[in-house]
Amino acid sequence: MLPSSLLPPLRLSAPPLSGRIEPAVTLSTVARLVASGAAVSKADLVTAAGLARTTVSTAVDELLARGVLRLDGTRPTAGRGRPADRLALSPRGGHVLLADVGATNAHLAVVDLSQQVLAHAHVDVDVRDGPDAVLRTVETQLTALRASTMGDVPARAVVIGLPGPVDGNLGIPVRPPIMPGWHAYPVSARLQQTFACPAVLENDVNLRALGEARALPADQVPLLFVKVGTGIGGGLVSAAGVLHHGADGAAGDIGHVRVRGAPDDACVCGNVGCIEAVASAGAIARRLGTATIADVGALVARGDPAAVGAVRDAAGLIGELVATLVHFYNPARVTIGGVLTAASDELLAGVRSVVYQRALPLATRNLVLANSVLGEHAGLAGATVLGIEQVLSPDSIGALLAERPAPTRR
Ligand SMILES: [Zn+2]
Repeated sequence: MLPSSLLPPLRLSAPPLSGRIEPAVTLSTVARLVASGAAVSKADLVTAAGLARTTVSTAVDELLARGVLRLDGTRPTAGRGRPADRLALSPRGGHVLLADVGATNAHLAVVDLSQQVLAHAHVDVDVRDGPDAVLRTVETQLTALRASTMGDVPARAVVIGLPGPVDGNLGIPVRPPIMPGWHAYPVSARLQQTFACPAVLENDVNLRALGEARALPADQVPLLFVKVGTGIGGGLVSAAGVLHHGADGAAGDIGHVRVRGAPDDACVCGNVGCIEAVASAGAIARRLGTATIADVGALVARGDPAAVGAVRDAAGLIGELVATLVHFYNPARVTIGGVLTAASDELLAGVRSVVYQRALPLATRNLVLANSVLGEHAGLAGATVLGIEQVLSPDSIGALLAERPAPTRR
């Protein structure tokens, strides 16, 4: 597969336009609409942004003159008008570096501001080795990927996802149960220093939720993503299409909820009977005596009766949890992801049957319950969205413009 086909086009959010509009907000809006592919000409932008033609024209001219946008041929217009200039983000505008770190492996990639994946790698890491060893691998790999893309293009942002609770504002993990030594480690500060650009830290399931929501049609939110892997985690994208973090960043941390009928197995958090301790792929691996959760996936894919039975039991418990969450948040879509869904439809089928049996009709009338459409690359998709939105935000786009020659005024 070519790197550029790794990800589908992803929608980017635009800052709200109301009252007196600052020039930086207009520039950010125009750049994001072009970067997401939602608008590729001035006429498109007038419609999509709801801004006056002259406002759009001034912003486009400035972004072109400063080398943030470029002309990418023309496209025919309706009627007899002359063909319209086609706009695109300049490939020289900057790179965004991505690291989606799971419990036992990491997806790394370099993308440009037009969402093209320029290079990517999949490496084994073990978060139990601690932050220094894992981040050193991430830094080495991202540096090598950047070198492979050629051209002297600056890194504009680095986005990292980690498999535990994080404080995105401080850029630190917060008491992650499966990541010894990571509590309060300055992840963002370290990456910011290494790559000399802003760093964004996010929970890995939140990244998947965001990636999935932005790759799907806009009516598929609110979206709840449930990842069943080594642990069980949730991510919630609101009706506005943005991540719901909650007051402390702990929203969606559903692995330590207890559901009806769960056995009293001990959990890494110190409680017993947590959904993660009884129904995760990790819990199934312990029960079956396999070395890794990938082994569980392989057994399920092969139809091994003990493995399929264990997944059915887990699906019943996860279904109870999802039915409760559906009642509370009334999502348009619940996406199930992780190693077990890649292996078979057994987990999805089991969760579905419980949710439709338990939840009341109003909450399930239009509910879509499906496997992840992006699979193992959902996290990279979410990281792409966060990274490009950061670089093209009203607060940051000024920096992008400042280092380029000023437009010539006529
Ligand atoms: Zn627990």
